[in-house]
Amino acid sequence: MLVWSGVLAGHDSCEGGAMDRLSVRHGQTTDQDGTGVPKPGERQPTEGAHRAEQAAAALAAGRSAAKTGHAVVIAGGGPTGLMLAGELALAGVDVAIVERRPNQDLAGPRARGLHARTIEVLDQRGIAERFLAEGQVAQIAGFAGIPLDISDFPTRHNYGLALLQSHIERILAAWVGELGVPSYRGREVTGFAQDDAGVDVALSGGRSLRADYLVGCDGGRSLIRKAAGIAFPGADPSTSWISAEVEMAEEPEFGMRRGGGGIGRASDGVRIGVVLTERDTEHTGEPTLQDLRDALIVAYGTDWGVHSPTWISRFTDMTRQAASYREGRVLLAGDAAHVHPPQGGQGLSLGVQDAVNLGWKLAQVVKKTSPASLLDTYHTERHPFAARVLRNTMAQVALLRPDDRTNALRDITSELLGMDEPRKRFAAMMSGLDIRYDLGAGHPLLGHRMPDLDLGTATGPLRVYTLLHEALPVLLNLGAPGGLDIAPWADRVRLIDANYAGRWELPVLGAVAAPAAVLIRPDGYVAWVDDRTGPVLADALTTWFGPPTAA
Ligand SMILES: Cc1cc2nc3c(=O)[nH]c(=O)nc-3n(C[C@H](O)[C@H](O)[C@H](O)COP(=O)(O)OP(=O)(O)OC[C@H]3O[C@@H](n4cnc5c(N)ncnc54)[C@H](O)[C@@H]3O)c2cc1C
Repeated sequence: MLVWSGVLAGHDSCEGGAMDRLSVRHGQTTDQDGTGVPKPGERQPTEGAHRAEQAAAALAAGRSAAKTGHAVVIAGGGPTGLMLAGELALAGVDVAIVERRPNQDLAGPRARGLHARTIEVLDQRGIAERFLAEGQVAQIAGFAGIPLDISDFPTRHNYGLALLQSHIERILAAWVGELGVPSYRGREVTGFAQDDAGVDVALSGGRSLRADYLVGCDGGRSLIRKAAGIAFPGADPSTSWISAEVEMAEEPEFGMRRGGGGIGRASDGVRIGVVLTERDTEHTGEPTLQDLRDALIVAYGTDWGVHSPTWISRFTDMTRQAASYREGRVLLAGDAAHVHPPQGGQGLSLGVQDAVNLGWKLAQVVKKTSPASLLDTYHTERHPFAARVLRNTMAQVALLRPDDRTNALRDITSELLGMDEPRKRFAAMMSGLDIRYDLGAGHPLLGHRMPDLDLGTATGPLRVYTLLHEALPVLLNLGAPGGLDIAPWADRVRLIDANYAGRWELPVLGAVAAPAAVLIRPDGYVAWVDDRTGPVLADALTTWFGPPTAA
């Protein structure tokens, strides 16, 4: 059955329609009608260039074989869509991004940094250094403005990174460009129709694409979510914030306001940044200079002669989550799947981690090495973590209310979080380092992130995260070399004989028993531990990486 969802703007056949106007040259796609895909010569040489060349060649080969579109179309090229595109491209999947913006520029600052687990995830792909080189390493984790130090956590990245979202997106987009992912820029997805075999994706301008799967990474107002009929239950806004970068005729009162917000110097040291609560929580249009004047007058009794805004934006504490992350061949990730206020700075990191959980699973389903049911584990694993973020942001908003009783409550919370055990638990939650997917009972490592150990191998020292750069599963044998045989999965899983004599330690949990072997998923989570208590290896390999290849 074919069901059109959303508003269709014409549908030309994918056999020769959309793809004929795209030419693929050495992993580089040029859009001949000039809508902003990378041009030859725009790729930046990097240390990962060889890997990028291989992935791009695989993409080009897959694309010419398919000829009718892409295996996966991603609606939205924000942080989540970019990360997902990179993950799929690394796996050799033919993926394309459709992005409304003509370029990667952002109208406001939005996210201001990355949490520790997200830096680890980028390290797993060999690109963390690109971000670290441009940002400021700092203890950024906090709860309702109460700082949480993670410098004693057992991770190579026991800190966060202060870096504006515009830079994060630029660096991600460059990586995705190196991997040869085509982008349909300055285009919107206007609707889609899914059938048993695939999805027809309608774009503004009358073009359409055929894909095996469509992923909505199109932000909080996601058209994909709405068109798929996926419910978005949650809480309406109780507060609204206006934020802007401006000039003022008079010197304003610089400083934070109790309850959040305030006035400060912008990053150029000249212009002025303002964040203030607004009287109304319901708005129909975009925020204006008059809205900002009104908010200034309510807060300070004057607008200081505000003028010449570089940008003005608005956010609320609306807190909602998609009831399902999958509807047939349509999936949701990032803000399309969950929205919450920015307290704690968790949104971008959450979306990037959605993408890293989904990418390898979708790649295996598209390549038919795993059944489509593997995609259901994406919802099962990620939905509870976003729900937890929604819950902690609601609590933070409540704790930041500017009345005396709430102030007293926040002071007491601050005292509690000054104690070591609560500090560790909250810091691990806010930095994402405590994520554990429920993969059953067994060794404490099962379902946790694999620590980035310094291994010894026959060919020399090696970091665990280096083994994950290709986004392939790894079976790490720390026992007798040659002691594990995974021949029926050898086409999908790398078997590495290594030794490690140091401590095994996880954030919050502390030291755990050294295992004889671990199976690491491409997203860096431990899928199996050889300690004779959990599932057998063949079952774990089949569950996560598909049935064995016949001998
Ligand atoms: C004021 C503010 C402060 C924030 N502070 C932080 C913070 O400190 N830390 C943090 O981690 N997060 C923060 N966030 C949240 C963070 O910005 C988001 O969580 C993050 O951008 C989500 O990424 P995304 O890719 O899922 O969605 P988005 O960034 O919203 O990207 C969606 C993309 O889809 C495109 N698009 C939309 N519809 C279509 C369509 N139909 N067709 C094609 N393209 C489409 C859009 O142009 C956009 O590029 C903040 C947000 C705001 C508003």
